[in-house]
Amino acid sequence: MLSARSLATQALRPHSLGKMQKMALSASQTLSSADDSQLPTMPQARHFPAMKTPMLPPDTFKGKVALISGGGTGLGKGMATMLSQLGAQVCIMSRRQKVLDEAAAEVTALTGGAVLPVSADVRDPAAVTAAVDACVDRLGVPDIVINNAAGNFISPTERLSANAWRTVVDIVLNGTAYLTLDVGKRWIKAGRGGVFLSITTTYTRLGSGFVTPSASAKSGVETLTKSLASEWGRYGIRLNCIAPGPIETEGAFSRLDPSGEFRRVGVKAIPAGRFGEPEELTNLAAYLVSDYSSWISGESVALDGAGLPFRGGEFNQLSRVTPEQWDLMEQMIRSTNKQSKL
Ligand code: NAP
Repeated sequence: MLSARSLATQALRPHSLGKMQKMALSASQTLSSADDSQLPTMPQARHFPAMKTPMLPPDTFKGKVALISGGGTGLGKGMATMLSQLGAQVCIMSRRQKVLDEAAAEVTALTGGAVLPVSADVRDPAAVTAAVDACVDRLGVPDIVINNAAGNFISPTERLSANAWRTVVDIVLNGTAYLTLDVGKRWIKAGRGGVFLSITTTYTRLGSGFVTPSASAKSGVETLTKSLASEWGRYGIRLNCIAPGPIETEGAFSRLDPSGEFRRVGVKAIPAGRFGEPEELTNLAAYLVSDYSSWISGESVALDGAGLPFRGGEFNQLSRVTPEQWDLMEQMIRSTNKQSKL
């Protein structure tokens, strides 16, 4: 156990905060769930309920076609469900046809809406064009495109082969660019507008080790978004990003938290005291691709319970200092102030 004096001394020395961070990670804070199969939460999470019902009115997307890459699993499937519930016809696109077929059947059974499963690898521009053609033939030209497909895994960067690097960057950055270019050109040629949304990550803001291909590629997607929001606004095209913090999906957590350790300690670095829920992302996504957000373009919205500012502020680890320890530190600071005036 640290004394208040040593805590205070460390707190007032920024160079020692790395040590404090390590201690914060290992400090035993009470979690409301000790069961590893359940996402842990902190007590304050009760003040931040996750609203899971659709936020927008029914039929918001009636008559609209939405194309979602990576729409057969996880958050992509969640967005397909939400848009379908709100009246859109949806095309979901990724590599595995069987996964797509099952997801399409599941969403249609739930919402009654048409869902078209189209297999394509976003790394292949010709396959992307063929998939968009299939969407146009069966449902119509998409009004909404969500770049959600991604690949990522944790690794020390020095262990990565050039091929591993290229694979992630090809899916995330080039795949987004190919789909955006293909549909954007169609919209411009037809003299009609449309809206793009890309799902990025919070670590585009500060970077992150151990996921450097993803961090680099997702940052590229955000820059592409800002650039085209400027360039293509004159064509009636809007582009935005959502940068989510951790939201449990099989795809993401199996590759980014294989040991379950991140679940256990990561929640302590989220001021809202819990991970995100898929429906919180799907509601925000629905808003950002709807006409309710017509004046938002070139933006990346972080959705992370304030995890990013918490991790970015070097003194935020002081949130674990007790009131008694603060009393002691206040006395120490006051006495230092007095001495400096003598
Ligand atoms: P996920 O279920 O693994 O979704 C990734 C999707 O991308 C899969 O449907 C996958 O389908 C598709 N995909 C991968 N490579 C592809 C390729 N070459 N061509 C076409 N499709 C491809 O994970 P998720 O958590 O829902 O992630 C969705 C998005 O949210 C991603 O952009 C991810 O970076 C972002 N995100 C997630 C979190 C989180 O905590 N969950 C946090 C921040 C950001 P196939 O394998 O069948 O192709």
